[in-house]
Amino acid sequence: MPPRQAIFGGTFDPPHAGHVAAAICARTQLDIELLHIVVANDPWQKSAERLVTPAHHRFAMALLAFRDFDGMVVSDLELRRGGPTYTIDTVSELEQPGTEMLLVMGPAAARGVSTWHRAAELAERVSLAVLQPRGAPSVHVEGWRSETVLMEPVEASATFVRELLSHRSAQEIPPQAAQLVPPAVMSYIVEHRLYSP
Ligand code: ATP
Repeated sequence: MPPRQAIFGGTFDPPHAGHVAAAICARTQLDIELLHIVVANDPWQKSAERLVTPAHHRFAMALLAFRDFDGMVVSDLELRRGGPTYTIDTVSELEQPGTEMLLVMGPAAARGVSTWHRAAELAERVSLAVLQPRGAPSVHVEGWRSETVLMEPVEASATFVRELLSHRSAQEIPPQAAQLVPPAVMSYIVEHRLYSP
C-alpha cells in the first residue's frame, strides 16, 4: 500500500471538541503519516451566508487547539494562497507522487462534496475518510472512494459555540462553551473579543 496522508479542512470558527476528537480518531484509525489540519481562507459556501472570522484568528486558534497532538500539522497554506478556498488546489499543493491522499470530513460535509469546485477531478485524486459518530448511519457518496472513521459522537458545532458566546456579558463564559472549546482557544477568544455581542 502506498504511504498515505490526509487533509482535515475546515473553517474552525472556532475549533471545538468535535474537531479535536475527529482529528485524533482520523490520525489513529487511518494508516497515515501526517494529518494536515487546513484552515480555510475564504470558505465560499459559508461566507456567502454569514460573516466569517478573519482567517488569521481562525488559524491562531487552530494552532492552539491541535498543538498537543503528534502526527498533525496545522497548515496556513490556504491563507497564503488567498482568495476563495478550493480543496482541489490544496490537494495539488500537498500531494506527492506515489502517495495516497485522503480527505477527512463529517457526514454532512461528505453529503455535499459533489458540489465542491472541480468535484469530478477531486474524486479521481483522493479518497474520502468520512467520520461516523457511533450509532449514526454510515454515509456512502456515489462516485467517490471512501472509508469510515468511527468516533464517539461529540455534540458540538462552531455555530452552537458562537451562539453561546454571543449571549455572554463582558467576561462571562457560559460553562457549556468552556466545555466545548479547548481552554487555550477560549483564552484567545476572550483576549481578542471574538464572538462578543
Ligand atoms: P459551523 O457550525 O460553523 O458550520 P462546524 O462546527 O461544522 O462549523 P467546520 O470548521 O465547518 O465546523 O468543520 C470542519 C470539519 O469538521 C467538517 O468536515 C465537519 O463535518 C467536521 N465536524 C464539525 N463538527 C464536528 C463534530 N462535532 N464531530 C465530528 N466532526 C465534526
